Amino acid sequence: RHYRAWEVKKVRTTCPHCATGCQMDLLVKNNRIVGVDPADGPSNRGLLCVKGKFGSYKFIHSGDRLTHPLIKRDGKFEKASWDEALDLIASRFTEIRKKYGADANAGFSCSRAPNEDNYIFQKMMRAAFGTNNVDNCARVCHSASVHGLATTLGSGAMTNPIRDITEDVDLILLIGSNPTEAHPVVGTQIRQAIRRGTQIIVVDPRKIDLVKDAVIHMPIKAGTNIAFANAMIHVILGEGLADMDYIRERTEGYEELAEIVKDYTPEKVAEICHIDAEDIRKAARMYARAKKAPIIYCLGVTEHSTGTEGVMSLSNLAMVVGKIGKSGCGINPLRGQNNVQGACDMGCMPYDFPGYQKVANKEVREKFERAWGVPLSETTGLMSTQVLPEAIEGKIKGLYIFGEDPMVTDPDTGHVAKSLESLDFLVVQELFMTETAQYADVILPGTSYGEKEGTFSNTERRVQRVRKAVTLEGEMRLDTDIFYDVMNRMGYSCEKKTAAEIMDEIASVTPAFGGISFERLDRGETLQWPCLDKESKGTYIMHVGKFSRGLGYFYPAKYRPSKELPDNEYPFMMVTGRMLYHYNTRAMTGRTEGLNEICGDSYIEINQGDAAMLGIRDGDKVKVSSRRGEIESRAVVGDKMMPSEVFMTFHFADGNVNKITNFVIDDIARIPEYKVCAVSVKRA
Ligand code: SF4
Repeated sequence: RHYRAWEVKKVRTTCPHCATGCQMDLLVKNNRIVGVDPADGPSNRGLLCVKGKFGSYKFIHSGDRLTHPLIKRDGKFEKASWDEALDLIASRFTEIRKKYGADANAGFSCSRAPNEDNYIFQKMMRAAFGTNNVDNCARVCHSASVHGLATTLGSGAMTNPIRDITEDVDLILLIGSNPTEAHPVVGTQIRQAIRRGTQIIVVDPRKIDLVKDAVIHMPIKAGTNIAFANAMIHVILGEGLADMDYIRERTEGYEELAEIVKDYTPEKVAEICHIDAEDIRKAARMYARAKKAPIIYCLGVTEHSTGTEGVMSLSNLAMVVGKIGKSGCGINPLRGQNNVQGACDMGCMPYDFPGYQKVANKEVREKFERAWGVPLSETTGLMSTQVLPEAIEGKIKGLYIFGEDPMVTDPDTGHVAKSLESLDFLVVQELFMTETAQYADVILPGTSYGEKEGTFSNTERRVQRVRKAVTLEGEMRLDTDIFYDVMNRMGYSCEKKTAAEIMDEIASVTPAFGGISFERLDRGETLQWPCLDKESKGTYIMHVGKFSRGLGYFYPAKYRPSKELPDNEYPFMMVTGRMLYHYNTRAMTGRTEGLNEICGDSYIEINQGDAAMLGIRDGDKVKVSSRRGEIESRAVVGDKMMPSEVFMTFHFADGNVNKITNFVIDDIARIPEYKVCAVSVKRA
């Protein structure tokens, strides 16, 4: 510690990494953040993980922060004034709109940024640009949850809070989620629950840490979740373990699903999923009979070409035993980024205004037209995974990227590069010179969570404060102020508002946020949406007594194989995911020396039998190739992966795994299939 306790001011805020939403105090000395202390928040209860404790502040003061606008001239970035940069942005986007129509521009918003930034970003795209082409990176992580759960339950969010599903529950059914690394404070609370007697069933292709504590581990073949869920339902129905009263009174679509699952016998599904039929039976009985048993899942369910149906098959499973709308139960996606829930809540999606109010609904549109004082487009916009290919086809000409780095995060980055190069005009608003920013025509320096006021919505729908701790030297501006400046220059005149005033505007147009204000949050109230008015205390558990859509819907999900399976040329199935010490593109954690010392480069986990066959030893450099290209990595040999399956993290720009992942997308949410692609591995 480089400070004494009395020297520092404590600023209560929310961790900027995963969507657990841990509360913490930034310790500020002489306008510099020098440390972080955990605080007792509702989702973290005094805990912080290594990313929150050590990786959440050094990047703010990093010497490579962007500090002034840059304009690319003759292929080189040159320092520019704000007026020059903003004038150029407004004139180029307006020119594109005039020449090709409003829908030739698009914007990607930032799921790391506060709700207020996201709200103003989508308002800018809709009111000033005149398009619904606005999306956020939920598209590539949990869009399948948003679509899937909205379809079956009426609301695309976690049904129960973290505390409710980790305290005093009988059994946790954990599917495609590795919380001890990806959501470590949730992982710790699960471990504490196990110590108190909770049982856990792990369904995951990898031998993740929690497997040590599991009563059953099913190392399911990636991409077969629907077959698994249908087999569980097959057993539950066949053995009379379903909650028929709940099904009759609260749901619809049961008959069709019951017909479909007849085919999914444990023996047949055991072959599809490469797991044991008896384990399926045991797991189905345990889950059905447990009084309190939440399903917790993550990207292992969503990031598939059938991701949305995978999510819906899990809500089928929970509803068939009447486990939604009850304490200690529910279906619970652990969202990835700190405010990816909020970016969706705020309408950074091409078909929804804030609060999931539909663009296609005339009354909703008219409401926003009245509130914003401008006619709005009725054309549903493009999702981000549609924008990039359409740029190559010449239909998208202008793109505004706020705080996203698709050159690292999106699948098949060769394809992303081609898309960005095809654009007439690209603006990137960022903290750092990212891989994506290199392609920009104009770069604008924004501000981090430590330099602004706002709110994040965590994975359990809880809206929590973010508070300004420091003011840095440089010409960086509040992101909302930048959007206001762009809007005014594009002819949509509006006055700048503070973050608190923006939240009041959000509450005035978004029923689910109707009762949320900075005043209440700063009084110490902790509010989970829906929070309809100032008297409401928010909603702890959703769908109690009635689903948001009225009746819960059993979606008739059928298993379909992943789009690219191993063959002779590419004999391994590769799965991607997160690790403990880094967060996503490492824009933040990669600027913390200690974390880089623990792990600073990419690695590939390979089964020891496969490694022996290929003559690969632990630590060897290897080449990993797919139909998209080739990368180098370091082999980690062991038994975490099953034979013929390998795992890589997606955190490292050197050896970026997304150079070789597959750009095939789900039919409904258009989420890419990061979790399955065919690769070959050999010694470098
Ligand atoms: Fe931050 Fe997530 Fe770790 Fe909590 S669990 S400290 S929110 S990274």
